[in-house]
Amino acid sequence: MSNWQDDAASDLVLNAGPRLALLTRGEGSYLWDADGRRHLDFLAGIAVTSLGHAHPVFVEAISKQAATLAHVSNYFATPPQLALAARLKRLAGAGIDGRVFFSNSGAEANEAAFKLARLHGGTERPRILALENGFHGRTMGSLALTAKATMRAPFEPMPGGVEHIPATVEALEAAIDDRVAAVIVEPIQGEAGVVELPAGYLAAARSLTLKHGALLIVDEIQTGAGRTGAWFGFSHDGITPDAITLAKGIGGGFPIGALVTFGAASSLFTPGSHGSTFGGNPLATAVADAVLAEIEHSGLVDNAARRGEELRAVIDGIGSPLVDGIRGRGLLIGVGLTAPVAGDVVAAAQERGLIINAANPETVRIAPALNIGDAEIAEFAELFAAALADVQASAASAPETGKVHA
Ligand SMILES: *Cc1c(COP(=O)(O)O)cnc(C)c1O
Repeated sequence: MSNWQDDAASDLVLNAGPRLALLTRGEGSYLWDADGRRHLDFLAGIAVTSLGHAHPVFVEAISKQAATLAHVSNYFATPPQLALAARLKRLAGAGIDGRVFFSNSGAEANEAAFKLARLHGGTERPRILALENGFHGRTMGSLALTAKATMRAPFEPMPGGVEHIPATVEALEAAIDDRVAAVIVEPIQGEAGVVELPAGYLAAARSLTLKHGALLIVDEIQTGAGRTGAWFGFSHDGITPDAITLAKGIGGGFPIGALVTFGAASSLFTPGSHGSTFGGNPLATAVADAVLAEIEHSGLVDNAARRGEELRAVIDGIGSPLVDGIRGRGLLIGVGLTAPVAGDVVAAAQERGLIINAANPETVRIAPALNIGDAEIAEFAELFAAALADVQASAASAPETGKVHA
């Protein structure tokens, strides 16, 4: 058998670094690699596998629907698609006027949101406000909304009109006027390192957008589906947005995204103005509907809130001098570090069989399945403490660099 690392290096597009392991199987919060090693998965495919791996509900939904009807095109409706649209409207509080557009990824959901903003703005409102450090995806429209200049630069020119402003109410107040079509924000900036909006930001953004006739679009791709201990990130703030975008956790591992519109924003798309061949097919929507039903009926939103508190206490209790603070909400947690050693902590964790992620050099991101319990938390506590200690020890033995992997 050829070496998988060589195959990956020669056959996969060079948009990412070397793959970390060859994973072959999953069950619950555990993954196994090709060497038979077990890993505790506290990343969940970047906040995607809400129910963990190979959950019976996921397996049954996908198997049953695959054996029934997988795809028909959007010339037709199917029962799973209608069930999921109704469920998303209800969970989001989109009311009877709400509508849902289905896509296959987060970036595509944000492309739909971008087009929604253009339809609303027309020629009178060419401006779209997004936040510094915001991440909205890698396709051209969603990339234009993404703040990081180094991600955008090689692909200029971007679709026009997008401005990135600091995530403060004052900056929004100063920037917004009647030429703004939409303001797009993440309730917690996941890719930026699990950075929360300032308290009261969403409420202020809601009243400012209403005052100036702009749409408020909330990117819930990472924060949605119960991840933060509420159904959506905006739910904590008691506001009603004009649109939200979803993906990641709603499919539990099946690729699906959605744009949910509220109120008047629901009548902006007209026949022919947008579309997707795969979007909302019965296979994807049956799986997502089953995943969300399981989250609902097994109380996993509350579990995310409760287990998030427990994880915070556990991380705090380790008392590592490397830990600077804990950010985020529910089961979307960013552990801020006192030095840019997140990559080292993640590598040390992986050595010990724990999968976590470095959202940036100073932040470890933790986003386990929503159904974790006492056993997973206890094992995480042990492995994470050991990984921090490993990095601490090697930093002490190499004080001039402070790095393990120079
Ligand atoms: C992951 C993510 C996206 C992009 O989703 P893809 O499915 O990778 O295209 C957009 N916005 C946020 C907030 C995300 O976390």
